[in-house]
Amino acid sequence: MTLTVLGSGSTGNGYVLQNEHEALVLECGMPRQDCLAALGYNVKKVRGCLVTHEHGDHAGFIEDYMELMPCYTSAGTANAIRYRKQRRPEVLEVLRTVRLGGFSVRPIPAEHDAAEPFAYIIDHEESGRLLFATDTYYIRYTIPHLNNLMIECNYSLPLLEANIASGLVPEALKARTLESHMSLAHLKEMLTANDLTAVNNIVLIHMSGRNSQQDAFVREITEHTGKHTVAATKGLTIEINKTPF
Ligand SMILES: [Zn+2]
Ligand SMILES: [Zn+2]
Repeated sequence: MTLTVLGSGSTGNGYVLQNEHEALVLECGMPRQDCLAALGYNVKKVRGCLVTHEHGDHAGFIEDYMELMPCYTSAGTANAIRYRKQRRPEVLEVLRTVRLGGFSVRPIPAEHDAAEPFAYIIDHEESGRLLFATDTYYIRYTIPHLNNLMIECNYSLPLLEANIASGLVPEALKARTLESHMSLAHLKEMLTANDLTAVNNIVLIHMSGRNSQQDAFVREITEHTGKHTVAATKGLTIEINKTPF
């Protein structure tokens, strides 16, 4: 299974998880054309697009996507999105697993300043169990049998505080960041709390433009976990499999 990063962070999020036969799209915060190109224009193989919450960097292009593929999200998110047209996304219930082709999708709650944000546990025989969690300052559950993670690593508190001190980031943004995004320290705690024995890849997503240091974050998480860790840069493709080879 191949993961392609269309974009990751506050300027727009989109990911495509696919093999030859089927695909799952994550978020519609990047132009549809970018998604189509990553799919080799094979829209037929898309089993669905999962949306985490209503913010524009995640759901901004949902009406374009819904013309081509079913989009899924929480009832709260579906209600919070502003629509220009008639079509609406399919609604998922928290902790209720749905089958989308070969993908099993279980929404779990995320902790973010949005109506009803979700993270997703995605199972597929090729990718194994993948956690997709973004825009969440922590994760309420430990998740057994993980094989791969796409997880937010938004900021480090010392960097955020230094940027506020130097006037680069407004003070008012601090509380919001702390209560809505995953810090490097929180991510380390989350990774310690989970059994990572069978984990092959940790993909760090949704890094802050100002309050993060990509190379340092990747290095720290690699050292902390002993696992292959990469940053989700635009255009990255990476094999996401159950077996390490
Ligand atoms: Zn976001
Ligand atoms: Zn958000």
